[in-house]
Amino acid sequence: MTLTEKLLARASGKARVQAGDNIWVNADVLMTHDVCGPGTIGVFKREFGQDAKVWDKNKIVIIPDHYIFTADSKSNRNVDILRDFVREQGLPYFYDVIDDPNGHWHFDTSKGMLNRQYGSRYAGVCHTALPQKGHTRPGEILFGTDSHTCMAGAFNQFATGIGNTDAGFVMGTGKLLIKVPETMHFRLEGSLSPGVMAKDVILHCIGEIGFDGATYRAMQFDGEGVKSLSMDDRMTIANMAIEAGGKNGIFEFDLRTQEYVDARTKLNGTKSKYEPVLRDQDEKFIYDLTVDLSRLEPTVACHPDPGQRKKAKELGHVKLDRAYVGSCTGGKTSDFIEFARVLRGRRVAIDTFGVPATPEIVRDLQSTYWGQETVWQILVNAGVQMTENAGCAACLGGPVDTFGRINKSGINCISATNRNFPGRMGDKESKVFLASPATVAASAVAGKIADPREYVSN
Ligand code: SF4
Repeated sequence: MTLTEKLLARASGKARVQAGDNIWVNADVLMTHDVCGPGTIGVFKREFGQDAKVWDKNKIVIIPDHYIFTADSKSNRNVDILRDFVREQGLPYFYDVIDDPNGHWHFDTSKGMLNRQYGSRYAGVCHTALPQKGHTRPGEILFGTDSHTCMAGAFNQFATGIGNTDAGFVMGTGKLLIKVPETMHFRLEGSLSPGVMAKDVILHCIGEIGFDGATYRAMQFDGEGVKSLSMDDRMTIANMAIEAGGKNGIFEFDLRTQEYVDARTKLNGTKSKYEPVLRDQDEKFIYDLTVDLSRLEPTVACHPDPGQRKKAKELGHVKLDRAYVGSCTGGKTSDFIEFARVLRGRRVAIDTFGVPATPEIVRDLQSTYWGQETVWQILVNAGVQMTENAGCAACLGGPVDTFGRINKSGINCISATNRNFPGRMGDKESKVFLASPATVAASAVAGKIADPREYVSN
């Protein structure tokens, strides 16, 4: 069996499963957020009763992150609905925006967009917060009401996005009917060259198969090359499995996975026992691709979908109006470090926005010194508009007052996010080009799409 089949077999209590089988799977964690949480709670209460209790309060994680830093009253109210439900059910894992369990969330626009407006428990973007807060464990099943839940496949678990109706059912029963996906195999060899990042790996793979090339399939990443990839790198790659239509992305378990997970479960006091799945001899794949990481070059997915692959060096004619670094995919500490490595001592030529994915990343960037300056200061001095209000922000457009949202019509934006269908970051007539944080940085300096290798070698 493949890694995905082994995970699903175990979670369904079967010795073996194969692609196409329909099986009932036991969930280890159900995650939801402010956009889908209220809908999921509504389905749960409608189907199980107003006084029903969730199937296991220790297995539900609620992370508001999407439409948080906005004056939109309906969005603010969504966070209050989550808080009311958490109080009613006694759920321990709720990463509220405010500290008062009986309070109401309200974003104060008079304080501006850049300065922190959250309490001590706020965790930021759900997919990045889940591992940081010790909720991702090898061998487990994670369902989340968000398509990029697949990011947790970096930790050798089956993680997939589900809709509110399915999530309401999982909330009540802890189970879900799943069709076992076929598995596509991506064997990674070698290691990345300077200026080339994990984002380039996944943009390359999606470019090979197209934005629907993995529809309802597992994307398994393994091979010697994985050893050279950090957990942040693996998260970036698994995150974008859905951008090829994938049901899930999954990585092999190794010492790096173990070190990360053990440290985070210990730090947060979450469940620390887990059992990874290891590779079998008899794996059956529907597709095989070997990727030599050392041969990859900075890659861009052009408008209008993540499969429109080109090399950055071929796109020097594309003039840009805006650059953006942030999101679950491209807003991690390592992403901002590479962003800053290119920008250090330079100035951006276009509007450039930086939105760290989580408060922990804000703290990392504000406490990591390169010489006399923090990484945060390097970015601000380069002209980047950095906000402490970690969250999804403009990655998916959001309310009109969202920081970094594309409100002007017909502009070109280069972005470290993961999705670029028309209208994704706001205006429908604008074009979004997906790239690594290093490529975004070089392009922000040049005012047009640029190859970061010209900058990191200087
Ligand atoms: S950062 Fe973007 S892709 Fe990630 S969860 Fe938020 S909206 Fe979705």
